[in-house]
Amino acid sequence: MRTADAVRADLEARLATLGARVERIEEAQREPLDEDLSEQAVAREDDEALDGVERAAIEDIARIRQALAKLDAGTYGLCVACGEAIAEARLDALPTATRCINCAHDANG
Ligand SMILES: [Zn+2]
Repeated sequence: MRTADAVRADLEARLATLGARVERIEEAQREPLDEDLSEQAVAREDDEALDGVERAAIEDIARIRQALAKLDAGTYGLCVACGEAIAEARLDALPTATRCINCAHDANG
């Protein structure tokens, strides 16, 4: 069983990585568009791909913040649907899981 401190350290490290990623993406998107029209099209496509990555990162950040709040509240690792403890193997694989494996299946993820 990992200690709450170990889980928190892991989550905070992930948060720092994701935060840096979002920052880099936003920096890349602030770069002025190239004068050349075909270059602009490529840049826009890149921006759209980056938007997807950024959205995913922002969603992860929200999930990690929730997990950290649960650690603070002492409810980390409890299923939000049925209140049972989430299996440790599941939390190891997915530290931000909010549902036990049974409820996750019921909710389709
Ligand atoms: Zn459950």
